[in-house]
Formats: sequence, C-alpha cells, structure tokens
Amino acid sequence: MASLYIHIPFCLAKCEYCSFSSFTGMEHLFSRYVKAVKKEIVDLSFSEKTGILDTIFFGGGTPSLLPVDHIGEILSCCREFPGIGDGAEISLEANPKTLDFMKLLQLRQAGINRISIGVQSFIDSELNLLGRLHSAQDSWDCIRDATGAGFANISLDLMYGVPGQTPERWRWNVETALSLNLPHVSLYQLTIEEDTPFAVRYGRGNLSLPEEDEVLLMDEISFDLCKEAGLEQYEISNFAMPGFECRHNINYWNNLEYLAVGAGSVGFQQGCRSRNISQPLRYCQAVESGETTTEESEKLTPEESFRESVVMGLRMVKGVSYRALFERYGIHLPKYYGEILTPLLEGGYVEYTDTHFRLTDKGRPLANQILSELV
Ligand code: SF4
Repeated sequence: MASLYIHIPFCLAKCEYCSFSSFTGMEHLFSRYVKAVKKEIVDLSFSEKTGILDTIFFGGGTPSLLPVDHIGEILSCCREFPGIGDGAEISLEANPKTLDFMKLLQLRQAGINRISIGVQSFIDSELNLLGRLHSAQDSWDCIRDATGAGFANISLDLMYGVPGQTPERWRWNVETALSLNLPHVSLYQLTIEEDTPFAVRYGRGNLSLPEEDEVLLMDEISFDLCKEAGLEQYEISNFAMPGFECRHNINYWNNLEYLAVGAGSVGFQQGCRSRNISQPLRYCQAVESGETTTEESEKLTPEESFRESVVMGLRMVKGVSYRALFERYGIHLPKYYGEILTPLLEGGYVEYTDTHFRLTDKGRPLANQILSELV
C-alpha cells in the first residue's frame, strides 16, 4: 500500500505568514497543470515505485480552488493507474472562501472522504491580520455545508501565537471549534518564516507576538479543552476522536515512504527525498517535454534517516518504537544518543515506556528545543 501527496500550488491571495510554495493569479494554468499532474501519476505507476494507494492527500496551496471536475479527473487517473484501495483515506485541504454546498457535495461524489478546513481563527480581526480572505462567518457556513454534504471526517485548522492574541481569545477560539463536535482539529503555532511579510514586519519591530509564557498557556488550554471534549492529542499539533487520526500524516511522521506529484511537492522513496520544480509553468513544461521534474534530491545515509525518524516520530504522542528503529537501522537509540539524553530524562522531558521513547507532557510544549538537540 502506498501514500500519495498531490500539491496544488494555487491560492486566492498570499497570506501574510505563508512560506509555502503557492502562487496567485494562475487560473489560466489550471487545466494544463492538472494534465501534467495526471501524467506524473501515470509515469509513477509505470516506474513500479508504487502500489495500490491507501492514502491520497491534496495539499497546497489551496486545492479547493480547483474546479471539482479537475479533482475528479485526478482521482479517476489514480483509480486507473496505481489503483485506490478499499477504505483509502482521501483528504483535501480547503479554504472556506472557495467552497459552497454544491461544490462540497460534488467533492464527496468525486471520492474525497476527508476535508481539512483552514479556519485559522473565528475572530475576524485575527483573520484580517493574518491576511486571510475569508471571514469567521465563511468558516461557519463551510463547516455546516460540509456536514450537510455528508462529510463525516472533517478537520479544522486553527492558529495560535498570532500577534495581539491573548490566552483568553485563544480559549474562545478553541471552545468555538470544539462546540462544532468535529472529529479532528489541528492547532498550529504561528512561526515567523523568512521572506514573508510577517518576517519583514517582525524585523522592523512592527509585529508584537504573545510572550513565551502566554504561548505555553495557550498550549495548556488546547490540551485541556480537547481532552475534555474527547479529542486525544496524537501529535504535537493534532487532536482526534479515536479512529479519526490522519493516516496520511501518520505515515509521514513514521518517516515511511510516500509519493508526491505536482509543482514543489516533496516525495520520499528508497531513502531519497526529492523535490519537484516549484514554478508551476516550468513544472508543466518539464512534464510535457518528458524532462525530469526533480529540482533537488538528497539521498540520506542510514544514520541521517535514523535521526530523522527519531525527530519526526517524537512529534507523535506515542513516540518512536525503539525496537522498530533497531530493526530498520540496526541502531540502538539509547546507546546512540548516550549522554545527550541524560538531562532530558532526569528533567522529565522525555521517557521510555515498555516499547517506545517519547516526549512527556512536560516536554511536549518544548518540543522544538528538545528535537533540535536530537536532529
Ligand atoms: S491559503 Fe495556505 S498556502 Fe495559500 S497563502 Fe494562505 S497559508 Fe499559504
């Protein structure tokens, strides 16, 4: 069974904080782009790199910006070529501004069975600041329509650590999200990425972020409220009802192989991570002329891959299985990290269970610092 990531690099507008590979004003390229993506999928299936697909993830950019017919064409291609397994998880990331009831219904009919809605905030002033084009009301409407269209597996994204945000405002956002009784939420902390408008404003001292202790409090609020609502944290930023964890992303955090198609997409196959050409027109031209679409690739040594598996696996609450790591790499985790782990273990930030090595509840909010020591 295989996992396929499909990158749709188009957006309505660029958000102030975004460093993803995404482009605006490219509607004229949609048909040509979809054709190229289908050709890449067919080529992959002939290269014998893939088996039947168990998870498909349309990420972006804003995949919901594509007309439904295009999404349907790509899925038909997947059904015909690698093939899609029974019970496959087929996710699509969506911006509330790009969907209405009919489109959601058609997406369900085309085969999408999981929808991840980029709400980010239920407070309009925060949405404006982030440069999102939709309002809180658009999100409400979108979630209502997704439920009405028959989606049972709905996730929404919220963002904390936003400039000017207080723990009370964050609490209100999370409570509002949880009042919708959805089976999955992703709660991400805003990071200031290079070459974004936020980075420029931050550099000029023009963007005041919440203090570190306030962000830690927001973490606590997320954890407590989700737990009360029956959503278990299964990854640093992700909470789900049992059975609704995102299988595609779990495969990724387990550092297992996945295929990727589309401009700027990153795949991982046979120990090699490769990234496609980012610029959509250049990507289309490469596919059409039969040239390679790979812009960059890196073959990881077993040791590099081991460390990556540890760092990615520790994002999950259950952590990494040290036996599975030993079977995969022949490396014994406690011996490998040796004394680096001593202060972390003694401080109660990481722990061993019978089968796994993981971050503790105390260590998880400090994950970035801890993981940077193990990378
Ligand atoms: S919608 Fe998503 S991908 Fe597009 S600009 Fe905003 S954050 Fe970036």
